[in-house]
Amino acid sequence: MNIRLFKPSLGKEELENIKESFDRSWVGLGPNVNEFEKKWAEFLGCKEAIGVNSATASLHIALMVFGFPEGKKVLVPSLTFASTATAILYNKLIPVFVDSNPITLGMDLEDMKRKYDEDVVAIMPVHFAGHPAPMDELMPWAREKGLKVIEDCAHTSGALYKGKALGTWGDIGCFSFEEKKLMTTGDGGMIVSNDPELLKDVKAYRWVGIDKDNWKTAQAYTDTNKDAMHWFYEINLLGFKYNMNDLAAAIGLAQLQKLPKMNARRSEIIRMYLNGIKDIKGIKPLLPFEPEQYMYQMFGVRAENRDELMIYLKSKGIATGCHYTPLSLQPLFKPFAENCDYIEKEANKFITLPLHADLTNKEVEYVIKHIKSFK
Ligand SMILES: *Cc1c(COP(=O)(O)O)cnc(C)c1O
Repeated sequence: MNIRLFKPSLGKEELENIKESFDRSWVGLGPNVNEFEKKWAEFLGCKEAIGVNSATASLHIALMVFGFPEGKKVLVPSLTFASTATAILYNKLIPVFVDSNPITLGMDLEDMKRKYDEDVVAIMPVHFAGHPAPMDELMPWAREKGLKVIEDCAHTSGALYKGKALGTWGDIGCFSFEEKKLMTTGDGGMIVSNDPELLKDVKAYRWVGIDKDNWKTAQAYTDTNKDAMHWFYEINLLGFKYNMNDLAAAIGLAQLQKLPKMNARRSEIIRMYLNGIKDIKGIKPLLPFEPEQYMYQMFGVRAENRDELMIYLKSKGIATGCHYTPLSLQPLFKPFAENCDYIEKEANKFITLPLHADLTNKEVEYVIKHIKSFK
């Protein structure tokens, strides 16, 4: 047995879409990206979605649009992937790390309020593993304090929280299509908002400062009119080369169609895990998973003898991981570390277990069997 921790679920539908792109001989920013953006906005029920080449890029740009003065502070969970906090540093802002809620592992709202001061300008909640941050409590507090909210939705894809899609509660939502996420484009990301005015510069930010539709421009090169300025563009701001391309969007369009099915399979696997581990001594689910309500990008447990169990599972060909080492412990972020006592200690119990849509029942049973057989 060799069971992967994460695996993208790819097939002939993706290949067919890529072939279309090849036939058109257009693989850069183009019609597929436009279509994928439109479909993603429809899927979430939001006003605008803009495709970029990663969630890291989307988090970077999302913070930029507010033009916060250098040195202001942003509240961010310590338990998250590097990008949530590097986006803050890219913007010359200061991350203020917040401890985790002991039950859900999302940002602890009490600790968040404790760490707030007048220099704080924004909050970046992460829907950790796919479990929703309590946006219904967070948003009123953020509004009262005049803070902007950017949701890191890298672990979720279209889940509703209290009837409203995650990613549309805050000012801006950022999604990831990296290969380990709920759906993939190889690498890719999406910036969404219900306030198109807020995103007015995002297309320029993602394409070195130029806000022009490449695809339409190329068509215009051979339009038979008397306009000699079809090539013209203006650069008004300092942008990046962060655009999504048509190959990525070709994969994304096929993945989006399969997403409900892939998510249903993930939920099935999580139910099997929860059922299988419920009576094992020294093992508890990572958080109160609700596979009927939400989709999860990862599954894991908290284990008393974490390292021994990990080594044992490795010996059985079962890949494991730990998500994450709290950022407040990482050397890069040491200068900004504040006490996140709970998560810095508790993360030593975390084991991430294999979860992806192509995992078979037999493989899940094998993993459960060996968690049981560990002594
Ligand atoms: C994966 C991930 C990101 C970054 O996504 P990329 O698309 O790889 O840049 C950001 N935040 C979280 C929580 C993630 O898991």
